[in-house]
Amino acid sequence: MSKRIVVLSAEIANKIAAGEVVERPASIVKELVENSIDAGASDIRVELEKGGCQSIKVIDNGSGIEREDVALVFERHATSKIYNFEDIYSVASFGFRGEAMPSIASIARVELLTRRKNDLAGTRATLDAGKIQEVVPAGCPAGTQISVTKIFANVPARRKFLKTESTEQGLCLDAITRLALAHPEISFKVNVNGRDAFTAPQVRDASERIAMVMGEDFSNHHVLINAQKENISLTGFISRPEFTKSNSKSIYLFVNKRFVRDNSVTHAVLSAYRQIIEPRRYPAAVLFLDLPPEDVDVNVHPAKMEVRFKDSHSVYDLVSKTIAQSLAGAETSKGSFIYRLAPKENASVPGFTRSADKFPAKSFGLFSRQNLQQAITNDLLTRSSVAEKVATFNSDNVQAKETITFASLKYLGQFANTYLVFASDNGLVLIDQHAAHERIILERLKKTMGPQIISQSLLMPEIVNLTPGQIALFSGYIDFLREIGLEIEIFGRDAIVVKTLPVILSQIQAREIISDIADQLGEQNQMPSLQEKKEKILASLACRAAIKANSVLSSEEVAALCRDLEETPFNLTCPHGRPITINFSLSEIERMFKRK
Ligand code: ADP
Ligand code: MG
Repeated sequence: MSKRIVVLSAEIANKIAAGEVVERPASIVKELVENSIDAGASDIRVELEKGGCQSIKVIDNGSGIEREDVALVFERHATSKIYNFEDIYSVASFGFRGEAMPSIASIARVELLTRRKNDLAGTRATLDAGKIQEVVPAGCPAGTQISVTKIFANVPARRKFLKTESTEQGLCLDAITRLALAHPEISFKVNVNGRDAFTAPQVRDASERIAMVMGEDFSNHHVLINAQKENISLTGFISRPEFTKSNSKSIYLFVNKRFVRDNSVTHAVLSAYRQIIEPRRYPAAVLFLDLPPEDVDVNVHPAKMEVRFKDSHSVYDLVSKTIAQSLAGAETSKGSFIYRLAPKENASVPGFTRSADKFPAKSFGLFSRQNLQQAITNDLLTRSSVAEKVATFNSDNVQAKETITFASLKYLGQFANTYLVFASDNGLVLIDQHAAHERIILERLKKTMGPQIISQSLLMPEIVNLTPGQIALFSGYIDFLREIGLEIEIFGRDAIVVKTLPVILSQIQAREIISDIADQLGEQNQMPSLQEKKEKILASLACRAAIKANSVLSSEEVAALCRDLEETPFNLTCPHGRPITINFSLSEIERMFKRK
């Protein structure tokens, strides 16, 4: 039984289209504010009632609309922004589909007040459920004001999908935040239920706007990025490694000033942080990618939340490399917890290295607070209180400072042959010797990669046997391995010859190095990118070359380690994201002893 075909009325068609464009109050806010930006406004005010579920008003000082055109605003596919199909490949405005206004009007009541600067009188138009009620002359300031009420009143099914008012309000504010981030030259004011909720005055550049929008914490912990590759430019702000978030929502991407979501770019960002921050923690970033409009298709998503890049590989590369380099070059910020350690001559405090030797290493193989507490009670601190001990250390510290400077951290000894114990002026610090050394080696490998790497020729080139499958995997990495000072040549179907090794790894057998790399190359992971693989290789080599846990270190070795660690970026976490240092504040210790 076939049904007859009918052409849907404009009213129904608009309602259906609204489903795509107008999902919730935040989508209305986004479309209206984008129109204001497109109209050249320098001042935009948004008023929300009940989280935007009851009413939304957007007032701008933009171009205004001619009275004769007002009715057209609400016609489908009516736009002033493009005239030919090809124009969408060069469009710089947010809008061009001419769908938002008719869609919004079809599911709500809309009142529009508008006047062009040079017109004496303005125009008022009202619409209910998509139908124009009136278009009349009216006095009003230059610009446009659009009020939307009775939102989804005629689409009860949609109303049911709305979340709580506070959630919807949050989403509306998010939408404005994103637009505000990309438009520092526009002043934004948001009023919620009669109260000012957000004000962002006009500023000169994005950095000032970011400080207002992203919060002080981010602005105190950011690194500037700026790079250009062919005709793609990348600028923005990324968080320092010590500032992390529990999800990736604080990664904002703007492509030609348009906020978009792009999994590949997000992945590129995360890959640059992978070995620097703990697993399941995320950075914050505000990235502006600018490229010629013809190199990016913005017409792939109804709400234009996604775009397609002509050359997505170049974009990925530019993002991941720029961020990785900027992070490596960034100095540690004032707020971060960096331990500056004693120089060689002060490294060993007489008595303490010996006392550390008395720790029964085996029974403290695994670190726990109880163990530490026991060890401290047993040995170091039985004769006087922690406070007194620390005070003693302070007394010979001539330049006590609030930040932990090197003189205020004294090496006490090695604990469990794995952790180096230090006293700062307000607590105890443990450093994991393996994790610390791993990070030092990794950063050194990365830093010297390329022409700076120092490699050592083997007296006798070493032949290492591998499976043909492994050989095939190696063949793609020969250049990369040469960059880290490891020169290899494929020798027949199942062997490679190792000719040089990087000096930093020279204590390790060539065979072991090759086998570690083969393991990394053979590992299947979900999103294997070349960069990711290379990082894994470097991390595994660093792990192999680093001082092991459970090995006794001389005070000279400790001093050298400390000096190196001090000069190493990202010295708070090992390449696997585990911490390198753990701090027990004096007050924490006192609490454990029930002194507080
Ligand atoms: P689009 O933005 O895709 O062109 P819309 O439906 O959002 O389509 O808007 C239709 C037209 O209405 C726009 O092209 C513009 O000419 C006009 N318009 C909408 N809002 C404003 C505004 N705040 N100021 C000036 N003109 C506006
Ligand atoms: Mg629009």
